[in-house]
Amino acid sequence: MTSFPAYARQVRDESLDPVQRRMRLRNCLYRFAPYGFNATWHHLAITHRIPGRIAADPSSLVRALDELEAARAPVLARSVAFAAERRLQKREGRRVPQTPHPWDSWGCHNLAYCPDPRKHPAEPLPLVVGRVLEAYTRRAGPDGGCLVCGEEDWTLWRVCQNCGVASGGRGSIL
Ligand SMILES: [Zn+2]
Repeated sequence: MTSFPAYARQVRDESLDPVQRRMRLRNCLYRFAPYGFNATWHHLAITHRIPGRIAADPSSLVRALDELEAARAPVLARSVAFAAERRLQKREGRRVPQTPHPWDSWGCHNLAYCPDPRKHPAEPLPLVVGRVLEAYTRRAGPDGGCLVCGEEDWTLWRVCQNCGVASGGRGSIL
């Protein structure tokens, strides 16, 4: 299975056809997409003005990848720390994780899942992801408002009416 960094290298490879490079960026989203595949793609395409005819501006793909990678770095660090913690707990005979976080079971995916691909936070991805990670570190689960924007009606709606994020993850709205 091709990894995120391998796809990322191909997105930046100017010897490749721009259409192929765009496909590789979409492949990256199968590995890491904080809002889910469609909403994350929509965010990147709007923010970095990825044109329909990609040959007109292939460098937009690299700008989008830069943002995606910056958001992925702290999640990776968190996953590595969590794996180490789990190994320690297992060695001590505790089979059930003491601090289960959604992204551990989702494989770093759908961290701030947005069911409507056109409704997602407008801020930079690293900022939003950082806020979600921080909120989950502070409290055990997504209660007391939207993890991203703080909207308090979140528990009522499950999907935040303000920023579009389902703070409880994809599973909470299915
Ligand atoms: Zn919100």
